[in-house]
Amino acid sequence: MGALASVDATNESGKRDIIVSRNPATSEVLGEVRESTPAEIRDAVSRARGAQAEWGALSVKDRCTRVGRFRDLIVARAEELCALIAAETGKTRGEALSMEVMIIADLATYFVKRGPRILAPEPISLHLLKNRGSYLHFAPRGVVGIISPWNFPFGIATGEIIMALIAGNAVVQKPSEVTPLIALKTKELFDASGMPTELLQVVPGRGAAGAALIDSGIDYCVFTGSTATGRKVGAACGERLIPCALELGGKAPAIVCADADVDRTAKALVWGAFANQGQVCVSVERVYAHQAVHDELVQKIVAEVDKLRPGEDTGSMTWERQTEIVEERIDSAVKQGAKVRTGGKRRADKGLAFAPTVLTDCRHEMDVMKKEIFGPVMPIMKVRDEEEAVKLANDSTLGLMAYVFTGDKKKGQRLAERIESGTTMVNDCLLTFGAPETPWAGVKQSGVGLTHSDRGLQDLCQTRHVNYDRIALKKELWWYPYSDKLYKQTLKMMRWIFR
Ligand code: NAD
Repeated sequence: MGALASVDATNESGKRDIIVSRNPATSEVLGEVRESTPAEIRDAVSRARGAQAEWGALSVKDRCTRVGRFRDLIVARAEELCALIAAETGKTRGEALSMEVMIIADLATYFVKRGPRILAPEPISLHLLKNRGSYLHFAPRGVVGIISPWNFPFGIATGEIIMALIAGNAVVQKPSEVTPLIALKTKELFDASGMPTELLQVVPGRGAAGAALIDSGIDYCVFTGSTATGRKVGAACGERLIPCALELGGKAPAIVCADADVDRTAKALVWGAFANQGQVCVSVERVYAHQAVHDELVQKIVAEVDKLRPGEDTGSMTWERQTEIVEERIDSAVKQGAKVRTGGKRRADKGLAFAPTVLTDCRHEMDVMKKEIFGPVMPIMKVRDEEEAVKLANDSTLGLMAYVFTGDKKKGQRLAERIESGTTMVNDCLLTFGAPETPWAGVKQSGVGLTHSDRGLQDLCQTRHVNYDRIALKKELWWYPYSDKLYKQTLKMMRWIFR
């Protein structure tokens, strides 16, 4: 068996309120963090609310200038961040930089620059009531609770924090119990950048702390995690009428058409399935390959996987439980007739590192094709044609991301539009999380609401409507008193307008 889990339920004295963070690749203890109590979480929300009053009153431009300083410190201390991200998650330092820290530097830059324009009041042109004007304005929601997962512990949470702050909110973050230290490091940088310290609070803890956060008077909740937990979070928010965005699980299909560039497709799929050890909500989790290219594609994928250098190109899984799920998925697929073309097991000498695994002879009804794997496994199924591929891609309760590979760009877009998925990419993988102007959202059981994008920033605000008088008469036609004459005039007017 591999190394110890990166999170323990108990500490050495048997107390349940300590979270021990370990490097999953080496088992080294990185630190201990005390779990926040419900009272502490309530207090954190209340202190955040105090700080928000002043912060929310600043202009968006002023808020952006100050968030820009936080961004600058992230860029300046990138190496320190990458080292901790790599140590706590087991991912490579390169992935910590390119898939987390750099993405946040870019997201912050985009919203710092564009925030004032995105949150500027939006006029609404009234088609009928020309005597009046309307506009939307975007007011901060108050305290945003952010509950985050462990797979991109910096990239996911910090992007949401930055957007919530620019929108004028305070934030209380409940990081995953698997990766609490990165959240505390982010808080350290936040404070060091001169931001008002009470404006961002971090409340480490397990699921109960997340539940307590929702029960502590927050005004909006951004949850990223599994569909099972998302259901509970959605229900808890619903009971309290707290609006929320839920970013949940995925089972991204990749359709490979007969006219795809097989070399490029193989390379893209290998990256899309194995980056971050496949612990990506939009990892390539099932491939539907056209029968005309299936065999060549498999051969090229296996050849590409064999070139990957453990430690350099591929890191370690982040925790034991997830590694066991990966093993369960592979075992059950093999029992049902799937063939392991490469990988299939842990690298014994490398902690929780799992060998990139390619499975062929997969059938759509297998668990490995239906249930989220969240690990470095690429199951491949041969399909008759593109129609069958689209049908199978859509036969899922999840719909976060999908991929289409074809040499015909127009056809790629036509197929993409038919796939029930928050995003579908043509001829590439994973990338759009790093494009902050694009929405990040799932359909079906992959999510509710959205993050990222201009609309995602506006969603972190209350959208309020003001309707005002442009031309004020002494009395409007539809006010009291009513009369038969008024009725007839209105009828005549209606028939003239809607003639
Ligand atoms: P998880 O659902 O187990 O935990 C997510 C967070 O919720 C953690 O901080 C956890 O402590 C907290 N939590 C647990 N129970 C809770 C409760 N009852 N109330 C409130 N909070 C609670 O997910 P995970 O294992 O950390 O992450 C992996 C999952 O996240 C995968 O399914 C993956 O697809 C999904 N994910 C989705 C996205 C996306 O953007 N859609 C991104 C990353 C990960």
